[in-house]
Amino acid sequence: MTQTAQDMDAEVWFDLSRNVLKAVNVGVIVLDDQQTFAIWNQWMERHSSVPAKDAIGKRLTALFPELENSRLHGAVQNAIESRLPALLSQTLNKAPFPLYVTPKDAREGHRMQQAIQVIPISAPGMPTHCLIQITDVSLAVNREAILRQQAIELRSKMHSDGLTGIPNRRRFDEHAEESYRLAIRNSQQISLIMIDIDFFKQYNDQYGHLQGDQCLIEVATALSRVVKRPMDLVARYGGEEFVVVLPDTDREGAVKIAADMRAGIEQLGIEHAQSAISNHATISIGIATHMPTKESGNLHELVSQADEALYEAKRSGRNRFICHPDLSPASEQN
Ligand code: GH3
Ligand code: MG
Ligand code: MG
Repeated sequence: MTQTAQDMDAEVWFDLSRNVLKAVNVGVIVLDDQQTFAIWNQWMERHSSVPAKDAIGKRLTALFPELENSRLHGAVQNAIESRLPALLSQTLNKAPFPLYVTPKDAREGHRMQQAIQVIPISAPGMPTHCLIQITDVSLAVNREAILRQQAIELRSKMHSDGLTGIPNRRRFDEHAEESYRLAIRNSQQISLIMIDIDFFKQYNDQYGHLQGDQCLIEVATALSRVVKRPMDLVARYGGEEFVVVLPDTDREGAVKIAADMRAGIEQLGIEHAQSAISNHATISIGIATHMPTKESGNLHELVSQADEALYEAKRSGRNRFICHPDLSPASEQN
C-alpha cells in the first residue's frame, strides 16, 4: 500500500513542504487573520531582497505601506473576512509588490510585472488565512507590448501611400465616411476637394517616371502643408490625383484652402516644359460642399460633384478651381 500524506511522519511532511515552497518558481505569501506574514518563500526573498525573517510577524501594510487601501489590500481583506478568492488583473494592477526580475532592474526601479492570485485558506480549528501567489509575467507583457506596437505600425502602413507617405485611398474612404456621418449628426457642412496634376502624362514623357514620382512626392507634401485642422485630411486618391476632406467647412472655407493649394503648387516652381498652359507644374481643382441631412445627401454624391467640378476646371483651362453649383441636396429647402 502506498503512503498518503496523512500517514506520513509529520516532520517529513513539514520538510517536504518547506522544500516545495523553496523550489517553486512563484512567489508564495501566507498572511494570518491579522494580515501578518506567516510564510514568505525564497522566491519572494530573491525578488524583493527582503529576507523571510524581516517579513514574518509583520503586518502587510507595515512592511508595504503603499498597499494601504490598494486593490490587493481589499482582496486580502475579502479573502480573510468573506473567504472570497480574487484574481488581480494584470492590466489594472501592474506591479503591486516591489519585486524585481534582476538586480539591475532593482537598481533602475523597474518592477516585475505581476499576476496575483489571492486565495483564502481555511482548516478546521484555525482562523482563515490568506495565500497570495505571485507569478512573473514580465516576458508575456513585453511580448504583448511588442505585438501591440507592430499592430500600430502595420495599421499605419496600411493607411499610408507607399510613394508619398500621405494617407492613401483606404484611409480616405474610412475618414470621409466617418466625417460625413458626423456632419449629418452635428448638422454641419462638409466640403470635399478633388485635385489633379495638369498634363502629368507629358511630364512623365519628358522627365521620366522616376522624376514623375519625385514630382508627386513634392506635390503631396505641399498640399498636406496647407490644411491645419486635426480632422482635415489630404490623401492620394490614385495616380496623380489627390483628395481633401474638410469637415465643418463651408464653401468659402473650402475655396480658401483650394486657392492656397493652387498657389502653393505654382510656387513650388517644378519645371514642366511640356505643359500647354505654364512653364511649371500646376493643378486643377474641383470643390463640392454639402449640408447633409439623414434624408438627403451622401458621400458618393459629394465625391461625384467634386469630380464634375474638377472636370469643369480642366475643360475651362486648368490651373484653377471650380465649385460645384449645388451647395447641397438639401439647399433648396433651407
Ligand atoms: P490632365 O491635365 O487632363 O490631367 O492630363 P494628364 O496627362 O495629367 O492626365 P492623364 O490621366 O492623361 O495622365 C495621368 C498620368 O499620370 C499618366 C500616368 O502615367 C501618370 N501617373 C499615374 N500614377 C503615377 C505614379 O505613381 N508615378 C508616376 N511617375 N506617374 C504616374
Ligand atoms: Mg488624372
Ligand atoms: Mg492629370
